[in-house]
Order: sequence, then C-alpha cells, then structure tokens
Amino acid sequence: MTSALAGVLVPAAGLGLRLGPGAPKALRELAGEPLLVHAVRGLRAAPSVGPIVVAAPAEDVDSVAGLLRPYDVVVVAGGAERQDSVRLALQALDASVELVLVHDAARCLTPPALVEAVVAALRAGAEAVVPVLPVADTVKSVDGSTVVATLDRTSLRAVQTPQGFARPVLERAHASGLPAATDDAGLVELCGGTVRTVPGSEEAFKVTRPIDLLLAEAVLRGR
Ligand code: C5P
Repeated sequence: MTSALAGVLVPAAGLGLRLGPGAPKALRELAGEPLLVHAVRGLRAAPSVGPIVVAAPAEDVDSVAGLLRPYDVVVVAGGAERQDSVRLALQALDASVELVLVHDAARCLTPPALVEAVVAALRAGAEAVVPVLPVADTVKSVDGSTVVATLDRTSLRAVQTPQGFARPVLERAHASGLPAATDDAGLVELCGGTVRTVPGSEEAFKVTRPIDLLLAEAVLRGR
C-alpha cells in the first residue's frame, strides 16, 4: 500500500448547453461563486489530494487561472470532447504522480470523504475505481419511441466522479485510440482493465440541468 498523494484532473471545458444559454458550465455561479471554484475547494479539502490540473475552455484559461490562484492549480486549455480535455490535463500532470483521479467540475459539491474513499481503494491496490449509487428509476432500452427491453435494475449502478486510476492504466486507456466514452473508467473497461466500485454520495451529483442548480443551492444551505 502506498500513501502517495493523488493528482486530480478536472475537465471543466464543456459548454453545458443543457443548463441553458450563458457562460461555460463550470463558470456558472452557485451562491455567488463559479461551480469550478466550489469543485476545486472541495478537492483541496481532501488530505490525499496533491497536484490539480484543470482543463478550461481555451478562451478562459487566463481568467480561470486567476479565479483558482488561491488553490494552487495548473490550468490548461481543454479539447473538443471531454475525453480530449482529460488527455490534455493528464499530459500536464507532473510525471512523478502515480495515482490519478478524474473529477468533473460539474460535480461541484462532492464531499472530500468520497475523494478519500476513492484514493484509499487505489492505495489498497485497485487499478481503477468508480463511486456508484443504486439506480432509483426503472431503466428501459428503447428504439425510437418503442420499448425494446427492461434492464434488471438490481445490477445497474449510476456512476459518479472522482474516478481513480493507477496512472499507467489511465495513460494506456487514453492512448488506445478508442472512440469517445462517456467516462474514463469506460475506456479502461474497453482496454480489458478491472474497475472496482466504492459507495458514491448523493451530494456528488452532476449539475446538468437548471433544476440541479436549485438542488445544489439547497445542499449548500444545509451545510
Ligand atoms: O457534458 P458533461 O456534463 O458530461 O461534462 C462532464 C464534464 O466534462 C464537465 O465538467 C465539463 O466541463 C467537462 N468537459 C470538458 N471538455 C469538453 C466537454 C466536457 O472538460 N469538451
């Protein structure tokens, strides 16, 4: 078991169109501060976190670096797809860092304890780790507007971030040339890796739609 600090890559270069028109999602405000500031503050509150690399929209790199100055982060320009943003951030991470987390800026209220749980699983030897929650809804597969199948909910999990990786595993996944996956663990699975789970947190939800901002405000008020 290693006690080395984990590096964190924060893809924050998405436009967030589902949230409605306006600034890039990570720069939308929650209680007077950008989502990204909330996210990075949460990461810095986790004792196992070392270097942090943020991938910001190319035109916002300087302003994001200014916003995040108190938190000691490196800011790089993100890419066209989330996967590109993660790869570019990974290239900017100090070569000595062996454990890497990938954390969506949009999961801006993730409790530091969840970050610690992911790092602990990596330190215990997992090559890839994802936080998961049971699925509350029944999930069906459809073809157009016709239901094709009902999936067995008991074996389904909703997956959150931070996702954790032994660095060579994440590097291999991103160098594989595989088509875009919606998460980094998905790439590792396609490369034949074993992905372990840890219990997720209700507060690590992703701010995607306007109603998520209302929920985030309520969570903050309750803290
Ligand atoms: O679009 P989605 O909600 O899945 O994005 C998840 C995270 O990936 C967000 O924090 C978003 O800013 C980031 N992202 C990125 N670069 C892109 C697209 C999304 O860093 N090109």
